[in-house]
Amino acid sequence: MSLLPIHLLGDPILREETVPVTEFTDELRTLVDDMFETMYAASGIGLAAPQVGRRERLAVVDVEGAKYALINPEITLAEGKAKAEEACLSFPDVYGTVERATRVIVKAQDVEGTPYEVDATDLLARCFQHEIDHLHGKLFIDYLSYLKRRAALAEWEELRKQYHGTVRYLKPGAPADDDAEPSVSEA
Ligand SMILES: [Zn+2]
Repeated sequence: MSLLPIHLLGDPILREETVPVTEFTDELRTLVDDMFETMYAASGIGLAAPQVGRRERLAVVDVEGAKYALINPEITLAEGKAKAEEACLSFPDVYGTVERATRVIVKAQDVEGTPYEVDATDLLARCFQHEIDHLHGKLFIDYLSYLKRRAALAEWEELRKQYHGTVRYLKPGAPADDDAEPSVSEA
């Protein structure tokens, strides 16, 4: 397995539509394994293919041990509404409050191509929505008001100076970039 570089806000791939996965190959399974490893190394709870520079319609999630490879995921039911703070591995340390459904049913395929359905609530439901948005070029800052989005982008302009270019490389065995435990899980 290998750690993949994480593409940062400013990289156009984060705004592109993904392509449905049609072949469930060993290459796909390796990509999924690498994405899990990268997500854990970054101390994240979710990671979508565009965040590692890929166009497959695929994301990985691990919320408190509830672990899923979401291939070609679709939300088939969304209900309830709640606001909570979110963060994203593609622009670390920028936070924003986003209203999301509190329960979603997601239909997806696993790494073998077998269809499955998950009924998720609370943080898992929020994480699914955040990742599925990534697969359609959407980021959590898009939900912020004009002023809050502008403030978040200004913050990112400062924070991004510590990275070189639009890609962030993780160090193996070193969880996260800083010693402070983030108050909000990044995805
Ligand atoms: Zn994200």
